[in-house]
Amino acid sequence: MEKMKCTECGKPGRALVCRKCYVVVVARANAKLAGAPGVATYVEAKAHAAALAECERTGDALRTFPRGPMGLVTDEARANPEYEAARAAASRAFGTLRTFNAWYVKTFKAEIAAAHAARCKRAAPAVAE
Ligand SMILES: [Zn+2]
Repeated sequence: MEKMKCTECGKPGRALVCRKCYVVVVARANAKLAGAPGVATYVEAKAHAAALAECERTGDALRTFPRGPMGLVTDEARANPEYEAARAAASRAFGTLRTFNAWYVKTFKAEIAAAHAARCKRAAPAVAE
């Protein structure tokens, strides 16, 4: 029982994954669920968030289709398969961004708050653990 080794760092212990590595393993698994496999740190997540925000701009393509007086896309545009494709792509991108953001703001709450505080030139709030 004492002869087990952590599958992550190889240190001998009493479990398949040591306590220290467990935190990282869980963080990585949650990131994967959030659609960001391989992302484990705030810096990586921040870069991923920026890339997704750029992706979400696929929604801009939707604004190129003609609209009627009420601001709705015209029936002719709706019948256009290109419109349907653009709408589906935008919807997918938005869903991906939303799923990722929910995880991102929850996981890096302290880091995001600190970055915001620094931008606002205020002291970073004390982080309660
Ligand atoms: Zn370990």
